[in-house]
Amino acid sequence: MKIGVLSLQGDFSEHEQTLARLKVNAIEVRRKEHFDGINGLIIPGGESTVFSIMLKRQGLEVFLREKILGGLPVFGTCAGAIILSKKIVNEKNFSPLGVLGIHVKRNSYGRQVESFETNLKVRGLKHEVKGFFIRAPEIVKVDKGIEVLARLGNKPVLVKQENILASTFHTEIIGETAIHELFLMECEKQAAKI
Ligand code: GLN
Repeated sequence: MKIGVLSLQGDFSEHEQTLARLKVNAIEVRRKEHFDGINGLIIPGGESTVFSIMLKRQGLEVFLREKILGGLPVFGTCAGAIILSKKIVNEKNFSPLGVLGIHVKRNSYGRQVESFETNLKVRGLKHEVKGFFIRAPEIVKVDKGIEVLARLGNKPVLVKQENILASTFHTEIIGETAIHELFLMECEKQAAKI
């Protein structure tokens, strides 16, 4: 199993460390040729506006969208979830990839100082997972057919749509591996089809 981590910006190294804990081979993805042979891609947290600029600059925007629509498993965390979404309700300056049927509101819980951690119940997991919400977006709308795997209050915070998994929170920064393991199960399922 070889997992790519989009390494244009943001906390890609924490994702690599989490994959290393799971003894999974990780590769930093910055150019089209880095996609060769990967079984899944993680889009880390960071700044979604910067991701959008970098994806365009690297000529990856259309390419990445096609890869995901073609079935490449992808896991977006926080800014990564924003990039995957269909619509950003409070953003006029850039458009997301539009592959995941959720509407998001950026920085919905406030500024950096309002960041927080909380325990979350996740469907399919026996133990609760500590999620870190760092200038996190809120998922304000989900399309039909999207599985909501975790909520905070009544708001979805972890969603799945076929090959796409997205969380508005981080777990990789404390080495929690459970959500990554869920993602790897999807990667293995897809790899078995090939
Ligand atoms: N606030 C960032 C954005 O809107 C996301 C922050 C994060 O990834 N932790 O892109």
